[in-house]
Formats: sequence, structure tokens, C-alpha cells
Amino acid sequence: MYFCTPPSVYYVRRKNGNRRLGARMAGAEASDAVMMSCELKELGPVSEIMKLLECPICKGLPIPPIWNCDNGHISCDQCKSQLDECGLCRAPFAGGRNFFMEGVVNDCLVTCPYAEVGCGAVFRTHFMKNHAAECKFGPKIKWISCQNGNFPPNAIKGGRQHGVDLFIIRAPHMGSTTPGKLYEFAPPGVHPGGSKATLAWGGGERHKFSYEVLVAPLGHVSWVTSQNGDTTHNAVIGGVSETGETLYIGRFLHEDNLINGKIHPSHRCCYIGVNGREIASSTYEILVKVDLPPPTESNDDSTMNRNISDNDDMPAYYS
Ligand SMILES: [Zn+2]
Ligand SMILES: [Zn+2]
Ligand SMILES: [Zn+2]
Repeated sequence: MYFCTPPSVYYVRRKNGNRRLGARMAGAEASDAVMMSCELKELGPVSEIMKLLECPICKGLPIPPIWNCDNGHISCDQCKSQLDECGLCRAPFAGGRNFFMEGVVNDCLVTCPYAEVGCGAVFRTHFMKNHAAECKFGPKIKWISCQNGNFPPNAIKGGRQHGVDLFIIRAPHMGSTTPGKLYEFAPPGVHPGGSKATLAWGGGERHKFSYEVLVAPLGHVSWVTSQNGDTTHNAVIGGVSETGETLYIGRFLHEDNLINGKIHPSHRCCYIGVNGREIASSTYEILVKVDLPPPTESNDDSTMNRNISDNDDMPAYYS
């Protein structure tokens, strides 16, 4: 195998209209051009290569998408989402995705992110995402970031309004993280120009274009009746008020619509957003976790992939 050798002579039209050899486009020096005829005999020390595969910011394996800063440093998706600029050189992340790196990482064998709590699964990175989303050792009830009316397939239904199903969301608002609702699709004429996600806060209904959606497998949550701000030990935590008070997820019937919103314990009620206003009720249903037996290693069929060594010639797919 040769590296950096163009497969054949090719020309690229530059912005000024000149046609130049493709190899010269990379700005190759004369000495680089000589090196282009080197043949790859062996990959460098594996430990060194593995170090190159770290996100330089969090030191974790960057799960694709992997991003480039303007100066060519990589960043994992999580670090990039939390930083306005490169964590190493402060350049903007305008370099786009690093598809070479993504290809390498996607073919690596990795442990499940829930290995520490008992999952023995090992997959190519490319397939681990699917496994992790459904891993029986992972958290069953979680919040997934979404935008612009989108929601994941296992979103929990909270109620129904104007004949449209509602899902459970939460979003930051004025120093709080407040639970609210998301229409499955926009009911005609209800909130022109608004978002499908809204929450009740400060007497009004607030629209949100970025939010998190609550997801859980079937049967992992249920609703129980409650009142006057009462919660239960197994209530699902929905968010936190601007004063630091824990908020829960509640719903009640309002003009024949079952609408989900937030339970504010110290206010002794549940609030929902309806037609731009915040409506309160002292009686409501509260969302609770259903106690299920913990998973056991013995019935985990994914453990068959444990102990795969670097040298095993495994296919790039398992299911
Ligand atoms: Zn990172
Ligand atoms: Zn950088
Ligand atoms: Zn797992």
C-alpha cells in the first residue's frame, strides 16, 4: 500500500481558473513529493496511535461526529457542544467534520459505556451507539436533547390536546429548568409562529425551540393521582425552579384535554400552559418510576462479545 500517492494524475480547477496537479494542491514541498513514493510497512506503535484517538479536551474516545477547529485540532461532539472555540487554541470550530478520524474510530472495538455497572458488550464504535441507547444496564429514563419540534421514538406521551398527542419536555427558562409539553405535530391555528414545545412559567405559556424530551421503555413509568403539591419517593424529577426547588412532572384534565406540565411543590399545585396562559390545579397526576427487578449478567445476551482481543479477526458488525 502506498500513502499520499494520487491514484492517477488529476487536475483541479482553482478559483482563479488555473488547472494544477492535484498533488500540488496540498502545498507539497519538494521533499514531501519524494516521500510520496514511500510504502507503508507497518502501523506505528498501537499505544501512540491510540493516544492520537483521544479528544484532546476530555481525553475520552471521540464518538463521531468528530470536529476540526480552524487549526486542525479535533474535538469530540460533546466538548464542541459545550465550547464556543477550540479548547486548545481558541480557534473557531469552522473546520467541519474530520471524516478520516471518524472512519478510524468507527472501526475500533469499544466497551459499552455501561461496562462499569455490569454490561459486558464489546462492539465496533459504529454499532455501539445503537446498543448503548437500548443497553439494559443504561439509565431507563432519560432526557434527550432535541430541537424544532423533533422527538425521539421512545418519547413518553404526557397527554393530548386539540386531538394531538403531547410528549414530556423540559427546557431552561429564566434560571429554571422547567418541564412542559411538546405537540406531536402542530395543531392548526393554535400558536402560529410559535414552537411545538411550550412550558408554563410566571403566569404565561413560553415557547421553546430547543428542549429535552423524556424517554423511557414501555412500562418503566406510570401516573398516580396526587394533590396539593404532594410528590412520592419514586416521582420522576422534572427540573428545578429558579429558586432551586425540585419540580416534578404532572398533568390534569382541562376542558376535556389532558395536558402535562410541572408540579411546583411549594406552590401546592400543578401548572400547565394553555393558549398562552399558565393554568393551575391542586389535584393532578404525577409521573412516577415503576420499580422493576434489576437486570442480571446471566440473562444478558450481549456478553457473548466479551473478551474480544485486538488480534481477533472479527467482522465489523455484530447484532
Ligand atoms: Zn471531548
Ligand atoms: Zn485548535
Ligand atoms: Zn451495554
